[in-house]
Amino acid sequence: MKTTDILIIGGGASGLAAAIEAARTAPDKSVTVLEHLPKAGKKILATGNGRCNLGNLNAATHKYTNAKFALPVIEKFAVESLVDFFESMGLYTRADSEGRLYPMSNSAASVLDALRFECDKLGINIICEEKASQIKKSDGGFTVNGNIQTKKLIIATGGKSSPSQGSDGSGYPLLKSLGHTLTQLSPSLVQLKTDTASIKSLKGVRSKARLTLSTGGSSEGEILFTDYGVSGIAAMDLSRFIKADKKAVLSIDLLPDFTQDKAKEVIIRIAKHNPAIPAEGMLGGIIHKAIGTAAIKTALGFLPKTAGEIKPKQAAIIAATLKDFRLKVTGTKSYNDAQVTRGGADVNEFDNGTMMSKKVKNLYACGEVLNVDGACGGFNLAWAFASGRLAGKSAAQ
Ligand SMILES: Cc1cc2nc3c(=O)[nH]c(=O)nc-3n(C[C@H](O)[C@H](O)[C@H](O)COP(=O)(O)OP(=O)(O)OC[C@H]3O[C@@H](n4cnc5c(N)ncnc54)[C@H](O)[C@@H]3O)c2cc1C
Repeated sequence: MKTTDILIIGGGASGLAAAIEAARTAPDKSVTVLEHLPKAGKKILATGNGRCNLGNLNAATHKYTNAKFALPVIEKFAVESLVDFFESMGLYTRADSEGRLYPMSNSAASVLDALRFECDKLGINIICEEKASQIKKSDGGFTVNGNIQTKKLIIATGGKSSPSQGSDGSGYPLLKSLGHTLTQLSPSLVQLKTDTASIKSLKGVRSKARLTLSTGGSSEGEILFTDYGVSGIAAMDLSRFIKADKKAVLSIDLLPDFTQDKAKEVIIRIAKHNPAIPAEGMLGGIIHKAIGTAAIKTALGFLPKTAGEIKPKQAAIIAATLKDFRLKVTGTKSYNDAQVTRGGADVNEFDNGTMMSKKVKNLYACGEVLNVDGACGGFNLAWAFASGRLAGKSAAQ
């Protein structure tokens, strides 16, 4: 039987942060991380398209799911503290114009290196290729898999999204077996599946757009039309607002820089200026040609031969369609494609002053395994690092 003072299940962002904070807080205590993949932190390498958007200057004011629970934790380890945490390991960061923090190296590998080297330096024992599959409460602590005895236990197993990077949902039954409640789970920060009849010709086309979902939420940024629906950061951000029945209508403002009146005026001007040009592609001066053509077809139900055939009344309908291009949402892509899991262990059963369970003494949880998720932009790693550090610090005190 191996023994340790603090055991962390899951060597991802929150688990490694928890381990470092625990070892720094109590250098005399033994800290162990159990990770079922051959190496810790695999997912970190994939974050931010390989650049790792590790936080956001606005994290403390951002609306997370269960913000009331999450924000005090994030404030405790606010962005200055996050920056200091990484600088203390020799990793420097810079923010872009939207407040997104990236390592100065622009490399996610450097973030993982910093965390792993710090774990080594602090004498943290990382046991890889062992999956935690059973936890039993025992005298003075917990026994994991029947072979590791620990006084304090931190669950940092992540969610169900991107299972090839280790987060396969196996942390949920562990928490359930200790009496915790799970809320409904769904993939989040994931591509939207929609009706595709009106966008068949747009596969692979990108556009700047403002999106609104009938079930709540709006976003602005780049979208990508695909053969199943809509991808791109702005669309993925809205997946957080899809309800369990998956029913919703997506309204796309394809001309966010124009008012509807301005769009109508411009269409009339183009039609008058060059009436002989084909209607197909006639809006190429203000929007991707294929999108303009799809919008004309959707608005009028047919594609006129020439620009000159479009009457002012029809121009008004086309302008309205460009400002409110509607697609019926039919679902989302799966957990394999999702960046985050919505739902998780019920936060009401944890104390956000310590991350300790209100049901089981000396049991802690942090990161995505809890029912907290945020938008794209570094908010999820900000949560993982802040909650992990708080859990590690509390467990070590
Ligand atoms: C492609 C992609 C890109 C992303 N980009 C960003 C970004 O740029 N910015 C951002 O803020 N967020 C991003 N995210 C989200 C972010 O990575 C997660 O929210 C964050 O990693 C969650 O941290 P965590 O520690 O809770 O879980 P994870 O990082 O998933 O770590 C959980 C760890 O636990 C291990 N584990 C699970 N079950 C067991 C078990 N039973 N026994 C032993 N080990 C176990 C796993 O192997 C894994 O190493 C991205 C996600 C993906 C998939």
